[in-house]
Amino acid sequence: MPIGMQASAPARVERLMINLDTMHPMMCGWDECDRHARTPYQVRVHEHVGRCNSEQAQYGRHSHYVFCSERHLLYWVTASGANAHHTAARNQGRIYGQLPEGLRNRI
Ligand SMILES: [Zn+2]
Ligand SMILES: [Zn+2]
Repeated sequence: MPIGMQASAPARVERLMINLDTMHPMMCGWDECDRHARTPYQVRVHEHVGRCNSEQAQYGRHSHYVFCSERHLLYWVTASGANAHHTAARNQGRIYGQLPEGLRNRI
């Protein structure tokens, strides 16, 4: 599992995400949310081809996104990249605010 994906950590300790440059708490990455991001809810996006330790990966990078809750993390994941395409098809073009199929009743 890549560093930064802590979804399956046995004991969830929810701490605020602190921006180490400004020492201010980081905000949730979901557009409509103004709450602080918390440590269990992070997504690392691979903007490179191949595996992280492969030669091609030198030319790409990683982006980190942080959120206040699992719900907003999932909103974002669902609305992003390849997932957005499928979600839009499933919901007649509505992308934002939709949870992935099968998770709707779980959270
Ligand atoms: Zn990577
Ligand atoms: Zn949020």
